[in-house]
Order: sequence, then structure tokens, then C-alpha cells
Amino acid sequence: MILIDGKKAAAELREELKKEVAELKNKYNKVPGLTVILIGELAPSKIYVKNKEKSANEVGLKSEVIRYPETVEEITVLEKIDELNNDDTVSGILVQLPLPKHIDKQKVIEAISPGKDVDGFHPMNVGNLSSGYESSVPCTPLGCYLLIKKIETNLSGKKAVVVGRSNLNGKPMTQLLLKENCTVTITHSKTADLKGECLKGDIIVAAVGIPELVKGDWVKKDAIVIDVGINKTEKGIVGDVAFDEVSKVAKALTPVPGGVGPMTIACLLKNTIECFKRSQKN
Ligand code: NAD
Repeated sequence: MILIDGKKAAAELREELKKEVAELKNKYNKVPGLTVILIGELAPSKIYVKNKEKSANEVGLKSEVIRYPETVEEITVLEKIDELNNDDTVSGILVQLPLPKHIDKQKVIEAISPGKDVDGFHPMNVGNLSSGYESSVPCTPLGCYLLIKKIETNLSGKKAVVVGRSNLNGKPMTQLLLKENCTVTITHSKTADLKGECLKGDIIVAAVGIPELVKGDWVKKDAIVIDVGINKTEKGIVGDVAFDEVSKVAKALTPVPGGVGPMTIACLLKNTIECFKRSQKN
């Protein structure tokens, strides 16, 4: 069984991106910039943002974090986004989720210029992705996609099963696999026979949030299994896949932690660079 090493893959991707940033700096005499807006004091959000800033600096991006207290008014955030949309030194804007209840998430997402939407959540990018046009792609599914391609370059005709239909993970994952000519089944909490569906998959991507939901006898021999889940349990952090059981049948499997997680931030940097390149073209 191939243990898909997300840490290593992310480090390799960051190395490539670092080179690309240096080339862009030579060519345009400026570097891509990522601005993150962090609202409130949620510990996981603060950790994510710190890691994003560190990784951005590591590859040579210009990185900035704008912090607001939890009580900040929605209009203040929207005005700041408008300012950043019009700032040529900012290539990508990310508003760290979740937001306090009094701030409308959709309004915030739609306020970000689609060309600077490094999370790929703007309806324009969602639509472009589903139409097969150029777009920003949400970072976690993009990371999953790159890990799958490391194992299998030609996915055409493969049967892929995506477990979970969130806008963040399941739906964009489905679009990426469709683009690769997979036959994709998207499953969710109301799917009648989840085990039966999973058993058909040459590729399974699990993004659910239920510890060890996908069991060993749900997986076809030699399937590629990607575990997006991050679940805190008594025995520590586990994924949505029963790792020990599934590792006995799968051809390749991501561990949790150390699988998909590290790729997410690396893909955020990639998206920032892509946004910069598109803005230079236009
Ligand atoms: P979500 O809660 O938005 O969506 C979960 C999906 O799972 C839903 O579509 C739901 O229909 C489906 N589901 C729920 N119960 C099910 C069941 N019994 N059988 C089949 N499907 C079921 O979650 P999300 O934001 O997509 O996150 C999923 C998991 O991925 C979480 O554990 C989250 O922490 C993790 N995550 C990891 C990363 C990373 O970088 N590795 C990034 C984002 C999210």
C-alpha cells in the first residue's frame, strides 16, 4: 500500500511555487500578495491564519493579515474588501471562516472580486469550475486532486465516489474528477446504500466529518482512498476513513494527519500565484 505523504507533497509544491515567485519577481518586478482577514479570537482560525502567513512568507509572497475584533460591523469588513479589491498589490483575498453570526457569510464571499477569490467560493468561480472554464478552485479539493494525480496520472474512465456534498469539499471535488473524465458518484447523508456505492469506487474521497466512517469492507481492492476528515476523538485526531482496515485493501491512502491537510495551505499559495498571473494577463 502506498501511504500518500501529504507533508512531502506539500513541501515539494511549496518549493516549486518558491521558484515560480522568484521568476515572476524577475519578470514583473513585483510579487503576488495574499491578504487574509481574520475576525475574532477562535483558536483554530488563529492557528490556520498563522500557518498561512508563515507558508506565504516561505515561498516569497507578500503576505498581510488584517485582524478585527469579533464585534466588528459587517460594513467595515465589506469596505475593507472593496479597498483590497482595488489594491494592485493584493492578488488574493481570503476571509477566514467561520464568521461571527451577525456577519452574512454569503455577502462577504460575493464582495470579494472573483479574480482575487483565492478560496474559490465566489459564485462566479463555482460556476466557472462547473462549466469547465478557468477559475479559482477551493484549496482542499485541489490538494486532494493533486495527490490523486501523483498516484495515477490518467484518471479517464475511472469510477470515483465522493462522500459528502459540501460546497467546500464534495461538490468542487466532483467537478475536478469530472474534468478528468471520471464517472463520479456524489454521496451524502441521505444516500441509500453508502457502502454499496463506495465499493464501486476506483477512487474514494471522503469529506464527511464522521470518524472512521469508511470501513475496510467498503473499499474495492486497489482503490485510491483520500481522507479529508479531521475529527477530534478520545484517541486523537482521526479521519473519515478507518485507516488500519482500509490500508489492508487500498492501493494508496492518505493518513490523517499528514495527508490532505498540509496540501490545503500549499494550494492556497498556488491559487494566489494563479490569481496574480491572470491579473497580469488581463
Ligand atoms: P460539511 O459538514 O459541510 O459536509 C459534510 C457532508 O457529509 C455533507 O454533505 C453531508 O451530507 C455528508 N454526510 C453527513 N453524514 C453522512 C453520512 N452518514 N454518510 C454520508 N455522508 C454524510 O463538512 P466539510 O466542511 O465538507 O468537512 C468535512 C470534513 O473535512 C470535516 O471533518 C472537516 O474538518 C474536514 N476538512 C478538512 C480539511 C483539510 O484541510 N484536510 C479542510 C476542510 C474540511
